[in-house]
Amino acid sequence: MNTIAIVGGGLGGLLTAAEFKRRGAEPIVLEASDRPGGVAQTVVEDGFLLEPAASSMLLPKPDLSPILDAAGAQVTPATEAAKTRYVYTRGRLIEINESPAALLAPIVSVRGKLRAAAEPFVKHPAEAPEESLLDFLSRRFGPEMGRLGATLMAHGVFAADPADLSARGAFPAMVDLDDEAGSIIRGVLRRRKERPKPASPKVRASVHVPVGGMAGLARTLADYLGTAFVPNTPVKYVKPSGTGWVVETEGDSVTADMVVLAVPPHQARSITPPDVAEALDGTQVAPVVVVGIGAPASDLPLPEGFGVLVGPDSGFRTLGVLFESAYAPGRAPEGFALAKGIFGGSADPAAFDLADDALVELLTEETSRIVGTPVRPTWSKTVRTFPGIPQYRIGHAAWLRRLDEALGAHPGLHVAGWGYRGIGVSGLAKEANRLATLWEQQAERT
Ligand SMILES: Cc1cc2nc3c(=O)[nH]c(=O)nc-3n(C[C@H](O)[C@H](O)[C@H](O)COP(=O)(O)OP(=O)(O)OC[C@H]3O[C@@H](n4cnc5c(N)ncnc54)[C@H](O)[C@@H]3O)c2cc1C
Repeated sequence: MNTIAIVGGGLGGLLTAAEFKRRGAEPIVLEASDRPGGVAQTVVEDGFLLEPAASSMLLPKPDLSPILDAAGAQVTPATEAAKTRYVYTRGRLIEINESPAALLAPIVSVRGKLRAAAEPFVKHPAEAPEESLLDFLSRRFGPEMGRLGATLMAHGVFAADPADLSARGAFPAMVDLDDEAGSIIRGVLRRRKERPKPASPKVRASVHVPVGGMAGLARTLADYLGTAFVPNTPVKYVKPSGTGWVVETEGDSVTADMVVLAVPPHQARSITPPDVAEALDGTQVAPVVVVGIGAPASDLPLPEGFGVLVGPDSGFRTLGVLFESAYAPGRAPEGFALAKGIFGGSADPAAFDLADDALVELLTEETSRIVGTPVRPTWSKTVRTFPGIPQYRIGHAAWLRRLDEALGAHPGLHVAGWGYRGIGVSGLAKEANRLATLWEQQAERT
């Protein structure tokens, strides 16, 4: 009997399986398509490497690093440029680096800054148990900084509308600080004070990129799993059987003590028992388009930095532009540059319907305005992710609680991946760790 069956071989399922294996279990991963990696299918063409989904990771991280080490994944640190970020707002490009001087960056008016600085003293409780990110940050930091911050965070992480995104669902750690200390800033300071001093100096996490792109990382994780990664195997249904589970595939079935559905809710819904399917209902995804433009570096003069996020009144359609060749080694041929724009999401649903040529033109024009000189791409690529990025809209935290209750009635059935408790790779690793710990605890009890 296979003890653990994982449905879905995207980065979520692969990291979960690798963490189980690292801890001595023998998981099996059933993947519908012919390759590992899910939406993270790196495009390598004409010497350019374009990531249509995850493109970098912060390392070291306590949940992610041990998995990557065990699998033998090769990662390389980003260049120093990754430490500098830009915001395009109030009609100009503003650098935000890691120095204290960044606090003086003119991203909002002086009045807006003074109101933001008063955050620790603002006593203004939430009016609803789940606020939008826009309402939450505006309540804490004032309307100007709140709107800018909410827009940058919602666009940069979820391609979402900040007025729809649940602050608690999308950024729970930040809302916890406010719950604990009545202020985000005071919460940060309190945690810093209470944190025990590490025995040796802590290595600060920094941006890293996988060698061979995210598709290369997915392949490495699949190779680590060996024959336990089973491609071309769509799961039709998952049903309880005795004290365990039967996972039905086309013409075959697998029995398991534990099943992890590492697929987003809209895909999990059709393969689970009716009460779980009902609890999985009600979530939304939003399609996004990633557009890459490449050119000789002189025709695409990117600032030294990670990228730029655009503020609410910039008039741009792109939600952000990543300066791929500036921070990530190997993303463009020698002497060339690569920029990557992200369009669509629930922030701008109509952008997904634009033709590829129109999107390339838009990115070219908007990047020219951002860098302050005309850019002339000689290479371009458009990759669409459909149905798209899970949107943790208002109600997401309550939805998760209902889902947990429904899963509680089915011991051994779990969910993982970007549809639930964290949209990025480090969130996937955190969930992998949580599930593997649960399995260890269950194994100890039996
Ligand atoms: C534009 C964009 C930019 C991003 N940038 C970053 C970033 O910079 N950093 C970061 O950390 N993250 C980023 N992400 C998020 C990251 O890419 C995702 O967290 C991650 O790829 C999601 O992996 P997953 O396994 O949860 O889901 P998926 O990739 O959706 O994988 C699900 C898998 O399940 C399979 N499947 C579905 N149904 C079945 C079935 N019935 N049976 C068997 N298999 C099935 C699918 O074929 C698929 O392979 C970005 C995402 C996007 C779209």
